[in-house]
Amino acid sequence: MEETLNAFDTAWSNETLGADVQFCKEEDAMSLHELAQRMLAVYSEYAALETTLPDTAQIISIEHSNRFRLLADVPPIESRIDLLELQGKNLVVSDLKSSRSRWNETKVAEAIPQLVLYATGLLPLMRELGATRIVTKFVVVTKAKKPVVQVLQPQASQDDVVRLKQTLTETWSAIQTGLFVKRESWACAQCPYKNRCLGR
Ligand code: SF4
Repeated sequence: MEETLNAFDTAWSNETLGADVQFCKEEDAMSLHELAQRMLAVYSEYAALETTLPDTAQIISIEHSNRFRLLADVPPIESRIDLLELQGKNLVVSDLKSSRSRWNETKVAEAIPQLVLYATGLLPLMRELGATRIVTKFVVVTKAKKPVVQVLQPQASQDDVVRLKQTLTETWSAIQTGLFVKRESWACAQCPYKNRCLGR
């Protein structure tokens, strides 16, 4: 736990060195350090508990980079998967999230395409490892006074796969025609394309 908090402090110092950090209301460097401490404590407890389960998972990769084609006529997709584990015959794919509050069903449904994408790209690795099933899950750590770890294992349907492929096809054809529709949201503030897209 101390080690992970030290890693957080080092990363914070490196990332903010010389930067003019804009904090949200009632936040400062110390309150964020304390929040990180609470979140890492609850996550460490969860991770320690996981190692005591009868069918312990073996870590295959952390921050696993994967490049694959979902559709033959669309360019390859690059994914970076937080955690890959082998548990018996299951290849377990975990995506870690931090969130202000617990995820509800709507939030899970919105995020499912990400897991569908990851799982599809991992089929060759699954076979290579002798696994027979890919299990996907979200591990959400809440950013609260008393953070909790929420583990969600949504079941993707064939319909989710079809919709993902349709979205990809439509997006690629829009890119090819030069069509770009701005979708302004909270995400613009940290978007690396902000200057080109919004001109500010
Ligand atoms: S700034 Fe980024 S997030 Fe906002 S509309 Fe443009 S591309 Fe989308």
